[in-house]
Amino acid sequence: MDQVLAGRTALVTGSTSGIGLGIAKIYAEAGAKVMLNGFGKPEEIAKARAEIGALQGGGDAPYSAADLSKPEAVRQMVREAEAALGRIDILVNNAGIQFVAPVDEFPDDKFDAIIAINFASNFHAIKAALPGMKARNWGRIINVASAHGLVASPHKVAYVSAKHAVVGMTKTVALEVAKLPITCNAICPGFVRTPLAEAQVGPLAKEHGVSEQQALEDYLLDKQPSKRWIEVDEVAQMALYLVGPGSGGVNGAALSIDGGWLAA
Ligand code: NAD
Repeated sequence: MDQVLAGRTALVTGSTSGIGLGIAKIYAEAGAKVMLNGFGKPEEIAKARAEIGALQGGGDAPYSAADLSKPEAVRQMVREAEAALGRIDILVNNAGIQFVAPVDEFPDDKFDAIIAINFASNFHAIKAALPGMKARNWGRIINVASAHGLVASPHKVAYVSAKHAVVGMTKTVALEVAKLPITCNAICPGFVRTPLAEAQVGPLAKEHGVSEQQALEDYLLDKQPSKRWIEVDEVAQMALYLVGPGSGGVNGAALSIDGGWLAA
């Protein structure tokens, strides 16, 4: 791959799994130094650090175990990334969780956790990382929102609210940096083949008394006209475009990658 990110540094949150790991890999392949963050089994985190580290020329990639539901931990992660990488050129706010229930049964603690991790952590990370970008006169911020940042589905009150808020925050930050060589954009994927999305198939099959394949087709991909999962690499390619050469005019956008969901 062309080293279009040679000399760049990136902090990617929630990068021990799924979309975040895919973005971290493609950035490292393109020559960036990347810091990882997220939870998981120690051996899986070690594997991800070694894999990304190898792409960066050896050693383990830097990693923060910050729990992004806690604002001070988010700020600490940004400080650690600035120390480990020298600076943060690219910030990808990707960490997220999901919980599904009707609004009148939705547990308060799950609501609070989704708002904190999927939404508020983006604010705390941007607030902490932006001064460095302004000082160096270059930066790229990507918030991984969702098709659910643009349209709703039942039983996802916290997730849909958080993702709509992420799109609003993306636009606000974009306007504030518009005259600088800094951009802030949101990526809005439909259903992507990751542990977060695949975990929704089993409960849907149970709820409707159908096979997992049937549940996938009837209750998840029913929204997605392409009738197939979006793959992690497809989202990573969009994230690479947004930080590579030639994308500086794209600012404040909420870019869909959803097999036609939003067109319907
Ligand atoms: P995933 O479960 O594979 O990965 C989520 C990552 O976030 C993991 O690394 C996890 O450890 C981390 N994380 C969770 N809670 C955290 C916390 N408190 N502190 C730090 N890290 C934490 O999920 P994914 O599908 O790759 O999701 C990544 C992002 O993409 C999320 O924001 C999600 O909402 C969004 N998204 C996913 C889909 C999809 O279909 N998979 C669609 C649209 C948007």
